Amino acid sequence: MSKKAFFLDRDGVVIRQISYLHDPALVELEKNVPEAIRKIHEKGMLAVVLTNQSGVARGMFTEKDVDLCHERLQELLAAYGEKIDGFYTCCHHPDYTGVCSCRKPAPGLFHAAAEELGIDIALSFMAGDKFSDLESGRNAGVSQSVLLRTGYGEKYIQRAQEAGFAVASDLLEAVEKLTE
Ligand SMILES: [Mg+2]
Ligand SMILES: [Zn+2]
Repeated sequence: MSKKAFFLDRDGVVIRQISYLHDPALVELEKNVPEAIRKIHEKGMLAVVLTNQSGVARGMFTEKDVDLCHERLQELLAAYGEKIDGFYTCCHHPDYTGVCSCRKPAPGLFHAAAEELGIDIALSFMAGDKFSDLESGRNAGVSQSVLLRTGYGEKYIQRAQEAGFAVASDLLEAVEKLTE
């Protein structure tokens, strides 16, 4: 359990926010993401995506669709010689599938990633565009969580600052701030 990770929310952080995205053709990288992932890897850290996809619970799309979107994301990053080191998805929603332990802000996805990839959560970071992402990091016990202004981020800035979380303009700035 000695590796460090930058845990990343997916929508509005790694790729452009599109609600209930399930068409791989619509996957687009967020601002400065390849550079950010490169920096994460240069620091010897893993880049691990943790994403809530309740569209699966709602019957709007399947886990296979989620996988295809992640394959497309990997293709886009491969053009820059980069990749995501792991994808962990919650496909549940309390109204449809009952309460689970992995839907952020619950820490289940962090635990699954830490176990499989050998990550020390306490030495790791979380970046998200919603307050619930920051809470998920806190619940899991990461070293620091940071709110990005990309995606839904602008909506949560005041709340994040009041709660003592870091704020960054995009993922690259977040990585630079937290790993310096
Ligand atoms: Mg998001
Ligand atoms: Zn879940």
